[in-house]
Formats: sequence, structure tokens, C-alpha cells
Amino acid sequence: MVELVRSQSINLVLDKLRGVVGVENVVTSAEGLAARSRDTSLWHRTPSVVVYPATAQEVAEVVRIGAEFRLAVWPFSKGRNWGYGASMAFEDGAVIVVLERMNRIVEVNQELAYAVIEPGVTQGQLNTYLKANRMKFWADSTDSTPEGSVIGNALERGVGYTPYSDHFGNLCGLEVVLPNGDLVRTGGGPEGSHTWHTYKWGTGPYIDGLFSQSNLGIVVKAGVWLMPEPEAFNCFICELRDERDLPGAIDTIRRLRLDGILRANVHIVNDVLFMAQMMQYPYDLTTGEGRMRNEVRAELRRRFKIAPWSITGGIYGTAEQVTLVRAVVKKALSPYGRITILNDRRVSLVNGLTETWKLLRPVPGVSGALSRLTGSSLEKFEVLRHVYPILKGEPGEFIVSFAYFKSRYRPRRDVDPARDAAGLSWMAVLTPMTGRHVSELLALCEPIFRRHELDMSTTFIMVNPRTALALMQIFYNREIPEECQRALALHHELMDITVKAGYQQYRASVADSRSILNANPQFQNLADTIKRAVDPDRVIAPARYGIGL
Ligand code: ADP
Repeated sequence: MVELVRSQSINLVLDKLRGVVGVENVVTSAEGLAARSRDTSLWHRTPSVVVYPATAQEVAEVVRIGAEFRLAVWPFSKGRNWGYGASMAFEDGAVIVVLERMNRIVEVNQELAYAVIEPGVTQGQLNTYLKANRMKFWADSTDSTPEGSVIGNALERGVGYTPYSDHFGNLCGLEVVLPNGDLVRTGGGPEGSHTWHTYKWGTGPYIDGLFSQSNLGIVVKAGVWLMPEPEAFNCFICELRDERDLPGAIDTIRRLRLDGILRANVHIVNDVLFMAQMMQYPYDLTTGEGRMRNEVRAELRRRFKIAPWSITGGIYGTAEQVTLVRAVVKKALSPYGRITILNDRRVSLVNGLTETWKLLRPVPGVSGALSRLTGSSLEKFEVLRHVYPILKGEPGEFIVSFAYFKSRYRPRRDVDPARDAAGLSWMAVLTPMTGRHVSELLALCEPIFRRHELDMSTTFIMVNPRTALALMQIFYNREIPEECQRALALHHELMDITVKAGYQQYRASVADSRSILNANPQFQNLADTIKRAVDPDRVIAPARYGIGL
């Protein structure tokens, strides 16, 4: 690929791009490029230009210009893919296309419960739109920023919390700009097909998957299934008494989901991630070390009244269903830990109590008394009251601010850890949802974190009844270069060792493009062959997910 900044034709290309999207939507200023050259990971690439098209036709024109001048064109919906490369390409000098101006909610079909949206539509926007128009639907959200794109996250196979948490699974009927500039509707149906957004498999080969975690097209419109607002909702939290109970709890939850008693995703968070959501890194307790010793973790768990593992899930249905399922869940999980049930009424009590607690905190003795009375801490209440709405599909930026764990400060508004140079990368691997596999995976990874002197922060997210995503957060202090090097080394070693042990990756950072498909050369070859056929000039995001390197 040619790098635009070094190309003879730079002025000609920029003129052409301006002719398509307008002068103000072609950004080459140092500031504009810098905003698209940063992430919480240590990956760093600078684009030549950032282009903001407003229509599918403009996207197609931009792609054609890319093909004509053999430039790499990298599409992003919003570019909030923090920790995985945000809105950066695999190589310097790319044309970054940000689809945030394409933010129309084209349709909400209330009878069939789906929306048709453009890629710039954010989680927050869709949620607000449904509420403002009194539409009785929930759009599933991640616990990342409300500014994240619904389509961008779904294409990366992101997950949320409700029964509609499998975001790619709930995408139905795509409109895609291909590398040659053609616009194609997936699903194989006729123009105006009545079932384009209701029947995923369409007619003929199912090709939607080719546009997910891939680089074969730019999705410019999609149908998203919406969850009808249930009559009743409860959130359960099970705080494990002992970490040795984790495998048993995992097996119990799997059975509850396989039996259809639990219908939604369950998140299982370890103490380190809970702490990252509550507080800044306790540097005073870890002098000179990169990680918290076991005694420190135990002391912080006591102080903030948190468990080694906390399990959170939603119960959705009619009032009778919720009552029944709540009783079954309580009975099944109570051998492992303390169960708390939250509903709207209890959460408004927690909200009131939290605000009062904050006001009274300076008064000596009050915090201790409230802590004893509630069996909680103020910090824990803050986390719980911010997690609860996400289980109802309402995004917020509180939880994702855990990315600032090792930073000097964390903003409470306008959270943007890439802008603020927070240090976070992910190791995201899939494991069968069995206590045995989860224990083996933890036993495999824990010593590696320890050896690299970094904390093992982990969530197990039950992406379906049979599979958990082990999402490990690697937190590091970006002001300590040596710690950054350890974080990188840890990332590589974890990837290597988990793949060798048979655990595949769930999602990869752009930085891992070279290695991500190495373990399966036949699959890599097939993906490359398709890429060559669809995108012979390697225009769209070359090398992404190792395809067309
Ligand atoms: P978010 O802002 O929700 O995190 P992004 O815009 O960062 O989502 O998208 C996540 C990833 O998916 C990006 O890295 C990008 O490569 C890919 N992607 C995003 N939107 C599209 C799209 N409309 N078509 C094709 N790929 C996309």
C-alpha cells in the first residue's frame, strides 16, 4: 500500500476526497490526526487523513479513490474500540474513515421489534430515542461508553447484559459498501424484502459473518433486533464467600442457562476489576511494585466489603416469572455466597443512601456506622447503582472509567481513556463454561501475571450458555516505561500460552494482526483467498485480523 503522506498525488487525492465529502470533512490538521492516533493500548499509528462521509454513496466514492491510488482505507463507526486499537490502522499513513455523521435511526418497527440504523448511531442515542418516543423496547448496551457505535460494537461481536447481549447475533440484514465501491444488501432477498431485518439466514449462502471481525466491506446500514421491555426485572448479585467456590458456581450458572431459567448473560468479576471500578490504584499499599500482594487485596476486600468474585445477572419476564426465577436462582447460588436482589425500588433507595452517605462522609464515625448497617461500602454502592441500568440496556460511562485505574485521576464526565492516556489492554479468550475449564485457564494465566508483576483483573462473561469470555484487563501506568514493557510482554505471553492450551481468542487488537490467525494456517489461507477475490487491491483495512497481510 502507498502511504498518502509520501505519495506524489497527495494534493490530488485530498482534492478528490474534498470533492466527495466537503472540505470541512477531510481532516489533515495535526490535532485532527492526533485524535485518531491514540488508544489505551500501546499501539500507535498516525493516519494521513481522516474523512467523515455522510452517505453510503460518499463512502463508496472514498473507497473508489482508495482503490485508484492504492491507499489503505480503514473504516470506523465511532472509533471507541478502546484497548483494541481505537481508530488506528495497522500501518501509518492510512485513510481513516469515520462514519459518525451517518447517524440516522432510519426506522423502528414496533410490531416486529427491530430498528434500522446507520453506523454512527450510538448506544446512548438509540436508548434515548426509544425512551423519548415512548417505545417500549430496550436496546442492549455494553458497559463501555454511551458514545460507542451500536453497529461498530456488533461487528466486533461485542456483548452486553440483557437477553439480547450477543450483539452480532442480533444484527439482521446489512447494507455494505464493497471494496470496489458496490453497495450490496445481504440476505439475498429482493429489493424491499419483507424479511430482510427479521430473518438472519436469508437465501443462499449466509455471508453476513464475512463482514464481522474482518475487512471485506464497510457496513453502512443494519437492522438491530430490540428487546421488548419486560413487565418485570430484577438484578441478582452473588458474592462468593471463597474463591474456591468459583468452579461450582460456574457449573450451576451454566445449568440455569441451559435449562432456560436464566435467559441473559451473566458477568463474573474478580476483586481486582471491582476495585478498578471503585477507586484509583492503591499506590500507597504497593510501594515500588507493579501489583497488589495477596494481603493487600484481602485488606481492600475487607475495607470495601467486596468478594473475591461477584456474579451479576438479570432476571427478565412477567412478574410471576421473575418471582419464580428469583427463588430458583437464590436456592441454586446461595451455597456459594451472599445473594442480593436489586429492583427499581431498591436501587432508588441505594441512590438516596449513596447521596446521603457522600454528604455525611466527613462526619467522624458516620461512614463506619453506615458500612456496618448496610454491609456495604459507599464505593461498592456507587458501582452497583451504575451497573444496574446497564442490565436494562441503559449505557453509562461510570463503569468503563475503570480504564483509569492506574492513572493519576479519573474524570466522572466525558470519559475518554484513550485521550487521557490511561493504560489498559485486553486479553480476551473464550473458554467452555465449565468450572474445570475456568479453573484451568486461571491456573494457566495467574502465574504469568505474577511473573510480570501486574495484577490479574478478570471478568468471565457468559456469551452463551456453553461459552464464557474470559476478559482479562491488563492495567498499567503509562508514566512508567518499564511497566509498559512488562504489560506488552505479558500480553504476548498470555496470547501464546492460551492458544497453545487450546483457548481461542474472542477479539483481537489491531496490534495482534500478525499473529491472530497463525495457529490455523488453513483458515488463514481461506480468509486470504476470499480477501484477494473481493478486494484485490487490498483497499479496506488490509491486515485487519490477519487477513490480507
Ligand atoms: P465503537 O466506537 O463502538 O467501539 P468502532 O467504530 O471502534 O466501534 O468499531 C469497532 C471496530 O469495528 C473497528 O475497529 C472497525 O475496524 C470495525 N468497524 C466499525 N464500524 C464498521 C463498519 N461500519 N464497517 C466495517 N467495519 C467497521
